[in-house]
Amino acid sequence: MEYRLKRSDGVYRWINDRGVPYYLNDHEFAGYIGSCMDVTDKVEGQKMRDLAQRDGLTRIYSRQYFEQLANIEFSKAKRFQSDLCIAMIDIDKFKCINDTYGHHAGDLVLKTVAQTINDSIRTFDLFGRYGGDEFVLLMPNTNYAKAASIISRLQDSLDTIAITYNDALIHVSASFGLYQMHDEEILEKVIIEADKKLYEIKENLKNNQANRS
Ligand code: GH3
Ligand code: MG
Repeated sequence: MEYRLKRSDGVYRWINDRGVPYYLNDHEFAGYIGSCMDVTDKVEGQKMRDLAQRDGLTRIYSRQYFEQLANIEFSKAKRFQSDLCIAMIDIDKFKCINDTYGHHAGDLVLKTVAQTINDSIRTFDLFGRYGGDEFVLLMPNTNYAKAASIISRLQDSLDTIAITYNDALIHVSASFGLYQMHDEEILEKVIIEADKKLYEIKENLKNNQANRS
């Protein structure tokens, strides 16, 4: 097991402790044989890596780490001439949730949306927080039609959740801007194109809502 010990000088150190019980005469427990190793550097290193790779609130990939992994997927897709799609995802009227229920409720919504999507994607998809209420999903080996069906499934999953905050039940929806990479396109370009699609979808949504009211 790994645990933290306070040293005599007051400094906490992480210890990796391995032990096996030994017995006298095959049955009389006589203690443990094992070793303790100071693994503080390894544990602190993992923590630092986690801080850099994961978004502090939602625990999904940070934007920087997502971009690092996404560039590797782009190289693979070009080399093997495989399909790759990116979806930019943005929660609808998120500011209204913050304004109505407060920032803590907004945080809970961000965490729940991130978790719901993260739980529904495939192990080889990459999912990160792009900033604020915007997320990014990279789907390797996936053409536009397949990605569109994945997105439709994700929207269905979001439709079914109701987030409980104090006495309120908060429902959420998100818009998805989807774009399939074409030959030799770089990550930045594909993200810009997916963002444009997202913007168009948001505009249509707002126009439709305005026309209805
Ligand atoms: P739209 O439907 O067009 O997407 O509008 P929106 O209200 O979702 O988006 P807008 O860009 O107007 O507002 C996003 C808000 O998200 C503004 C910002 O204060 C809030 N926000 C950004 N990061 C966080 C966060 O980590 N926690 C919380 N609670 N709010 C955040
Ligand atoms: Mg939004």
